[in-house]
This record gives sequence, C-alpha cells and structure tokens, in this order.
Amino acid sequence: MPGKGRQGGFALGPGGDCVCPKCGYRTTHQRGTPCYSIKCPKCGENMTR
Ligand SMILES: [Zn+2]
Repeated sequence: MPGKGRQGGFALGPGGDCVCPKCGYRTTHQRGTPCYSIKCPKCGENMTR
C-alpha cells in the first residue's frame, strides 16, 4: 500500500487525534489549534487528547 512506513498510522501521541471525553468522537488534531479549543461536532463538548 502506498505511503506506508510511518510506524502504525493511527496512534495516540504528539500530533495525533483530539478526542471528545464525553462521546468519544475523535478528529484529527490541527496544528496550531489546541484540542481544547475545538468543540465536538456531535455533542458540543470541548475536545481533549
Ligand atoms: Zn462529543
């Protein structure tokens, strides 16, 4: 498969995903945008990591 070789792909860690603590929704963390400033599109809770 193309683009392989970055250990694992989806893993929690620096530059990973933001996760909603309430409903578990996760989204890709945007550089320069802290997770806690992003609101969950499902329940409106602030995202975290
Ligand atoms: Zn949520």
